[in-house]
Amino acid sequence: MRVVIVGAGFAGLQLARSLNNKEGFEVILVDKVNHHQFQPLFYQVATAGLDASNISFPIRKLFQKSKNVRFRLADVKSIEADEKKINLNDGELYYDMLVLAMGATTHYFGNEQIAKYSLPMKTTSEALRIRHHLITQLENASIETDPELRKAYLQVVVAGAGPTGVEVSGALAEMKKQILPRDYPEINFEEMRIVLVEGSDRTLGAMSAESSAQSRKYLENLGVEVLTNTFVKNYDGEMVALSNGVGITTKTLIWAAGIRANSIEGIDSQVFVQQSRLKVNRYNQLDNYNEIFALGDLALMVTEKYPKGHPQVANVAINQAKNLSQNLLKYGMNQFNKWKPYEYIDLGSMATVGRHLAVVDMSTPKIHFGGFFAWLVWMFLHLMLILGVKNKLQVFINWAYKYFTYDQSLRLLFTDYQVKQPHK
Ligand SMILES: Cc1cc2nc3c(=O)[nH]c(=O)nc-3n(C[C@H](O)[C@H](O)[C@H](O)COP(=O)(O)OP(=O)(O)OC[C@H]3O[C@@H](n4cnc5c(N)ncnc54)[C@H](O)[C@@H]3O)c2cc1C
Repeated sequence: MRVVIVGAGFAGLQLARSLNNKEGFEVILVDKVNHHQFQPLFYQVATAGLDASNISFPIRKLFQKSKNVRFRLADVKSIEADEKKINLNDGELYYDMLVLAMGATTHYFGNEQIAKYSLPMKTTSEALRIRHHLITQLENASIETDPELRKAYLQVVVAGAGPTGVEVSGALAEMKKQILPRDYPEINFEEMRIVLVEGSDRTLGAMSAESSAQSRKYLENLGVEVLTNTFVKNYDGEMVALSNGVGITTKTLIWAAGIRANSIEGIDSQVFVQQSRLKVNRYNQLDNYNEIFALGDLALMVTEKYPKGHPQVANVAINQAKNLSQNLLKYGMNQFNKWKPYEYIDLGSMATVGRHLAVVDMSTPKIHFGGFFAWLVWMFLHLMLILGVKNKLQVFINWAYKYFTYDQSLRLLFTDYQVKQPHK
């Protein structure tokens, strides 16, 4: 059976690894980037804590010894299901079974100005762009004599107080406190503001009330201004307009406020449900398409316990892939009646705010804890999830170095970004 998997994120990669060297399967793994991206640590790349290569793993290296898994670097454009074919930017591929695992991208809710001027963080290159942008603004501020413009360079607005927004705000606040004043003695860092804007009434809305309250307290203690029940209405590259009527002058709006699935042409529009996710049955199979499956962030599986679908997290992506591989390996495509439905085992969730500051909600037993121990648990689990021994070691060394020196060494500009001339 020729299985074509689109996307080498958590789901696609897990499926390819589970089918690796399994007799009867030829696997083609397609991705538009040549490495696996570890999204949970993007915020550390964006804030100069980790190098991008530390959280990226070359896909071809993983399958060097494989007899049946091949990688293809390509952007998948559309599907022709009648012909069992996908169209790529540079060719086409035929399949017996197609697995879509393209994950999600940023959702701007139709606001073109926000899409144009804000900074998303859904890929490694976007995380690097944030890093370059932030460093450039600091260089600009260091020579700016106009106080209003200096404010614009130094104020940062983060939209969305989910884990990404909370983590990036906390990391920025720590940089402002511990590192930046040493790098930029010419800047008065009291002028730097980090404002986290959230539409609902709490930070980390998907976690327990205790985690929300604790994360907010941690952020505020670090100096982050947290605005809840407030939306970013617009941004023109100069001023963030908030729903409460306030405007914040800034060159930096980090957009962590919405996601939608990466969609693809050629699928019946009825299969697309909320935020472009593809409706699947309990075996991750698309409605009306026997040979097409969707996994992870892209898939929306309705169950009694999860009527709105599962959370878009790595655990779901990995375990849906494992379940699909088990079904395929045990029963093949001709014995659907024996397939095992996917059941989500929620192990809990966690987020970190900064040094010694994290929150953890365990699901069984239902326990919440925060602070130093939660921070250790967060670090350990993330370290375990990163692919490759070298990457694990490099991340660990970076964290240890930062822990003992209160420093990080990656504040490097590798772009042609132009530093603005000071105002006369
Ligand atoms: C900043 C951030 C922080 C996060 N933190 C956490 C966390 O702490 N814990 C947690 O559990 N989850 C976290 N998540 C969510 C988690 O990363 C996702 O749930 C998970 O990556 C979903 O896996 P996936 O395989 O469905 O998609 P992804 O991992 O997103 O992989 C999709 C792959 O498809 C490829 N692709 C997309 N379109 C195409 C195309 N047209 N052609 C070819 N290839 C394509 C992409 O390049 C990518 O490699 C975070 C996400 C982000 C963005």
